Amino acid sequence: MGKPIIAGNWKMHGSLGSITQLLTAMVSSNLNPKAWESSEIIVFPPSLYISHAKDLLKGVNWYVGAQNLSNFEQGAYTGETAASMLRDIGCSHVLVGHSERRHIIGESNELIAQKYSMALSHKLLPILCIGETLEEREAGETESIIAKQLKSVLDLPNGAAALNKGIIAYEPVWAIGTGLSAKAKDANATHSYIRNWFSKNSVDESTPIIYGGSVTPDNASEIASSSDIDGVLVGGASLDPNKFLEIIQCIS
Ligand code: PEP
Repeated sequence: MGKPIIAGNWKMHGSLGSITQLLTAMVSSNLNPKAWESSEIIVFPPSLYISHAKDLLKGVNWYVGAQNLSNFEQGAYTGETAASMLRDIGCSHVLVGHSERRHIIGESNELIAQKYSMALSHKLLPILCIGETLEEREAGETESIIAKQLKSVLDLPNGAAALNKGIIAYEPVWAIGTGLSAKAKDANATHSYIRNWFSKNSVDESTPIIYGGSVTPDNASEIASSSDIDGVLVGGASLDPNKFLEIIQCIS
């Protein structure tokens, strides 16, 4: 396993002022700098504030990513953001298929696979978010839903190689923003299912799989120390500098 990955998804929150305060508080903290070196930290501001976040993080070895991208190259697609534009302003990563985009905006597995492919073709590292709803979990469908979400990317030309190049974020939908985190052992069991699925489908088993869903300083270390969990994707707690730094500290 490489360095633990700690990603903060700010969703559609913030302003120039609040993002300045948030990042300034984070980078000027007296956190042991070794904690930053021993983990891979990525923040995902709203797209409009990516350049601002990059400026504030000059000299700090954190990555800045985008929460979404267009499946189109460029052109007459009003309101969309092209992968090339994200690269142009210094983005390194992009979230693809976050559950809020799947379930609120209505993105399909096929569209998400196109976005994943577009990210790779512009050298953005995609974080493919997958996970089941509460109804699907209660119906015993967690594994089949996850397999279907992964397969849409596997079905791309050179799909296994494409999956090797990204990161998977297992985010049970019922745990996102609800305060109901999955138990570390249950999350780990799903991660190990994903690793088995990788090995059956010619995907490198060491492809990182991170967990997201109500991660806080209280549960981060137990979750991240589970054998098949390579890091965390944090929503709400990443908007609080103290909580995000505590999560970094206890995982690194
Ligand atoms: C997320 O937005 O991906 C997420 C996991 O949110 P939260 O940590 O708030 O559940």
